[in-house]
Amino acid sequence: MDMSSNFIKTIMEEDLASGKVKEIITRFPPEPNAYLHIGHARAIITNFELAKMFGGKTNLRFDDTNPVKEDAMFVEAIKGDIEWLGYHPANVLFGSDYFEESYERAIMLIKKGLAYVCDLNAEDMSKYRGTLNTRGTDSPNRNRSVEENLKLFSEMRDGKYNDGEKTLRAKIDMASPNINMRDPVIYRIIHINHHNTGNKWCIYPMYDFAHPLQDAIEGISHSLCSLEYVDHRVLYDWFVEKCEMPHIPHQYEFGRLNITNTIMSKRYLKQLVDAKLVKGYDDPRMPTLVGLRRRGYTPSAIRHFVLSTGLSRINSTVSNEMLENSLRDDLRLVNKRVNAILNPLKVVITNYPVGEIEYLELPNNNENEALGTRTIAFGREVYIEKDDFIDGTPEKGWKRLAKGLEVRLMHAYFVKCEDIIYNPDGSIKELHCTYDPETKSGSGFNARKPNGNIHFVEESTAIPAKFNLFEPLMVDSDADRKLEDRLNPNSWKTLEGFVEASLKDTLPEEKFQFVRNGYFSVDYDTVKGNLVFNRTVELKSSYK
Ligand code: ATP
Ligand code: MG
Repeated sequence: MDMSSNFIKTIMEEDLASGKVKEIITRFPPEPNAYLHIGHARAIITNFELAKMFGGKTNLRFDDTNPVKEDAMFVEAIKGDIEWLGYHPANVLFGSDYFEESYERAIMLIKKGLAYVCDLNAEDMSKYRGTLNTRGTDSPNRNRSVEENLKLFSEMRDGKYNDGEKTLRAKIDMASPNINMRDPVIYRIIHINHHNTGNKWCIYPMYDFAHPLQDAIEGISHSLCSLEYVDHRVLYDWFVEKCEMPHIPHQYEFGRLNITNTIMSKRYLKQLVDAKLVKGYDDPRMPTLVGLRRRGYTPSAIRHFVLSTGLSRINSTVSNEMLENSLRDDLRLVNKRVNAILNPLKVVITNYPVGEIEYLELPNNNENEALGTRTIAFGREVYIEKDDFIDGTPEKGWKRLAKGLEVRLMHAYFVKCEDIIYNPDGSIKELHCTYDPETKSGSGFNARKPNGNIHFVEESTAIPAKFNLFEPLMVDSDADRKLEDRLNPNSWKTLEGFVEASLKDTLPEEKFQFVRNGYFSVDYDTVKGNLVFNRTVELKSSYK
C-alpha cells in the first residue's frame, strides 16, 4: 500500500466527499483467544493508517462474545502488541460492554416477529439448514408467538435452560441461496464464567449479530475485515436495518496476508505450542508478533513490509524474503557493526609479544559516521571463524586462510598461517600464525596484497556467547499437509562462540550487525555473562 492508493482509501475519499460520512472511524476487533500474528498486522496497520490519513480514529475492540475460548491474558498481550507496532487506539472497548444493548435489540427483533426461540439441537439445526444445493427446512418452532418467544428468551437469560438447549434465531429466509441468511443463531446459552462479566450472563450473542451492532454503537464508518466475511455482509446490513440502529456502518473486505513457509492460522499456531513443537508463542521462529519481536524484527520493518504488500480484494501469499529485506533496509544504517565469531578457531600469533594488547579504533558503522567509533582489542591470541580456514590445498579463488597463505585480520594486520596444531583425536586445536607489523591497517602498506579479509575477536577480552540460527519453520507452504510432516528439522541451530568486548553490557532486544554473519538481536534469555543472540536475518538474501 504504501497507503498512497488502495480501494478502501478510494471509498473513504468518496464517502467524505459526498457527505455520506463525516469522519473516518475504524476499529480493530481481535478475539482475545490467541496471540496476534503478522497477518493481523495487516488488519491493524490498515485500520490505523487509513483513519490517521483522514484525521479520523481507530478503536481497539475485543470481540469477547465467545467466553469458551477467551482469556484475559490475551487481552493484555494484544494491547501490548498493538502499542509495540506503534499504534494507540482512541478507545479500548469490549464486545461485552454491549451485552445489555444487544439484548434489548434482540427483544426488538422478537417483537417485530423477526426472531424466535428454537429448540433444535446443534446437530438437527445443521440438518435443517440445508446445503448449497438444497433449501433449508423451517424449524418446528419458527412460528412461535411473540409472547412465547419473549417469555422463553427471558427464561434463557435467567438460566432456566442448559447449554445448547435453546437458541434465539433471526427469522429471515430458509430458502436463501446465502446460507448465512437461513435463520442464523443470534444468541446461544453458555454457562461459563466470562472474563469481563463473570456470571452475569449465560446467553451470549453470536459474532454476526453482535458485530454490526457494536460497529453501529461506536459510530464506525468503515468496518474493515478479511475476505471470509463477504457472504456475511448482507446479514450485517440486515441486523443494522432491522435493529433500527441510528448510525449505519458499512463493511468492506480485503484479502488476507499469508507468508511462504510459515503458518498463520491461530489454530495451527496453538497446535505447535501445545505439542511443544516450538518453545512457546514467542519462539523466534513463530510468525506471531511476540515471536518476530524476539527474533529481532522492528515495528518499522513490519510496518514497511505490510505496507509494501499492498491491499487488494484477494488473499495473497508473500515471500518471507520480502519481510527479511524490510528488516535489512530498516537496520542497515542504524545498527552497530561489530565482530562475533560464531564457530571459533583459535589462532596464536607466535611472533606477537606475550601479554600485550593493542586497541584499534574503528567506526561503528562505516556507512553512517554519526554512530561514532569504538575500539577493539588485538593480541597474541585471537579467534577466527572455522569456515575461514581450510586444512589442505584450497581451490583456486579461495579468499581466506590456509597453511602458507596470508590474510588480513580486518582493521589489524596481515597474518600468515605457518602451522596447524592438532588434538589427539585429529581435530584442529589451533593455528600458529605470524604477523607482519608493517601491515597495520591504516598504515598505507601496499607492498603486497593479502589473500582476503577476515574478521576476528581477541581471546583475552572475548565474551562467550550463544547464537541461535534459524531456518523457516515449515519446509513448504502447503497448508493441506500434516503439520508434523511439514516441520523443518533444521529450523533451530545453536552455536557457541564469542563476541567482542564492547558488547558486554548489552540488553535484551538490542540489535547488531555482526560483520559477515548477519543481523542479530539479544535474546530475553540473556543474563550478564551469558549472552544469547538470535539471528534475525542473514546479511544477504539466501533466496535460491
Ligand atoms: P481465526 O484464526 O480464529 O479465524 P482470526 O485470525 O480471524 O481468527 P481475529 O482475532 O478474529 O482472528 O482477527 C482479528 C482481525 O484480524 C479480523 O478482522 C481478521 O479479519 C484480521 N485478520 C486475521 N488474520 C489475518 C490475515 N492473515 N490477514 C489479514 N487480516 C487478518
Ligand atoms: Mg476471526
